[in-house]
Amino acid sequence: MSQLQRIAIGPSQFQQGQILLTKEQQHYLGRVLRLREGDRFIAMDGRGKWWLAQLADEQAQVLEPVSVETELPVLITLMVALPKGNGFDEVVRSCTELGVACIAPVLSDRTLLDPSPQKLERWRRIATEAAEQSERSFVPKILEPVTFNTAVTANQTSHRYICEARGEYPHLNKVLSSISEEIVIATGPEGGWTTQEIENAKSSGFQPVSLGRRILRAVTAPIVALSLITAICEV
Ligand code: SAM
Repeated sequence: MSQLQRIAIGPSQFQQGQILLTKEQQHYLGRVLRLREGDRFIAMDGRGKWWLAQLADEQAQVLEPVSVETELPVLITLMVALPKGNGFDEVVRSCTELGVACIAPVLSDRTLLDPSPQKLERWRRIATEAAEQSERSFVPKILEPVTFNTAVTANQTSHRYICEARGEYPHLNKVLSSISEEIVIATGPEGGWTTQEIENAKSSGFQPVSLGRRILRAVTAPIVALSLITAICEV
């Protein structure tokens, strides 16, 4: 079963035991994956459910539900100050593979990127593909970009951390000994957070943490933060 190809299906495509495939999905299954009528594949709804399905022309027959247990025991929201260029693509891809539940792109005082509306579509597509590839049952949510200050004041999760490259802050490993069900962790842009942003985050309940003694790139820091959290909560 695990060898079968997986594709993400929108909830409205499931109708009376059938999956109505889009033209793109028909092309992908038939031309790219070379599946023929009668061949089986896994359909995932991106919200926790997988089904074994059988290809039948422009649709597929749902055969049975498939149980998957690949999700982390904690819901991790990553708040990332958008890095320049296409750096965020890599953050979305790698952090989806690592198990993130939600990614909140934020515009900080030193963010250089001004994302176009097409970027959000692109990031959501990357998250879907990465979730299929890493056999996740959920596709992480990618929120619309907002300013960092809006994001920190709106967030009320009980465990909130902000990664700061300089200063005497405890290592993330140390503060995560009592992991709860939900965590929010924020990482900054190439130029780092401003002092004001750190102060705002602290007064909104974010605890500053270190990821070690080396200065990590804006793209590397969220991946390291996610890796540390998964290593602690997935034993
Ligand atoms: N230009 C900043 C400086 O020199 O202090 C460094 C910014 S760093 C390239 C980008 C972001 O990654 C930081 O804002 C922070 O959130 C995170 N980061 C990088 N290294 C880190 C570390 N060792 N500990 C905690 N956070 C780190």
